Amino acid sequence: MAKSNIIIGGLVPFTTIDYPTKISAVLFLQGCPWRCIYCSNQQLLCYRKPTQQDKENYEYVLELLKKRTKILDAVVFSGGEATSQTDEIITAIEEIKEFAPHFKFGLHTNGCFPEKLSKLLPYIDWVGLDIKAPCKKYEQITKVKGSGEFAFESLEILLKSGKDFEVRTTADPTVLTKDDILEIAELLSKAGVKHYAVQRCRPATKDQPNNPLAMQFFMDKEFEEKLRSLIPNLEMRV
Ligand code: SF4
Repeated sequence: MAKSNIIIGGLVPFTTIDYPTKISAVLFLQGCPWRCIYCSNQQLLCYRKPTQQDKENYEYVLELLKKRTKILDAVVFSGGEATSQTDEIITAIEEIKEFAPHFKFGLHTNGCFPEKLSKLLPYIDWVGLDIKAPCKKYEQITKVKGSGEFAFESLEILLKSGKDFEVRTTADPTVLTKDDILEIAELLSKAGVKHYAVQRCRPATKDQPNNPLAMQFFMDKEFEEKLRSLIPNLEMRV
């Protein structure tokens, strides 16, 4: 009988892009306190109590992971905001390690719960942290006051932890300018961040058109070089 009450809203059973150099399965966890203007996971945002179906979903995932212990290297907890379910993740990791002690564990987080992140970090091997904007512009993206302060506090926690991590920014042209992204990169560079990714902003739903301005960040070599001079290990994810 599975122990964790984790609520899994989605699963990618096999991916090579969600944990650096590892083949991983990604679990998308239910619940996020923010409401980003470009969020493409609207169905994962609401918080709710676990149901019998959630239990069955988790048991299904455990069985799948058991069958794939030789194929997979890692499990990544994503969201929604995965740290919303910190205790449930810790229990799940303990259960998974019983049959796959070699698995690594990754976390994708927006950094909205610094204390929960601190609690979870000892169980996690690699983190992808969103820094969505310069602090003063955070609310324009997340629609939540004070969200930037939490994200930057989480960044400090990660830096102090010595864990392997990357920072990523979704380049939303409706809020961010190239100068904003350079400002983020300068701050990250000074803080000692080693790996930074700028990601293309895509429409939140399939029926929305692409914003042609989204490509401006990826077609400007001078801009890219400036970023790279600040953080050499840069990825421009078009
Ligand atoms: S933090 Fe992520 S899951 Fe939460 S609203 Fe923003 S984009 Fe969506």
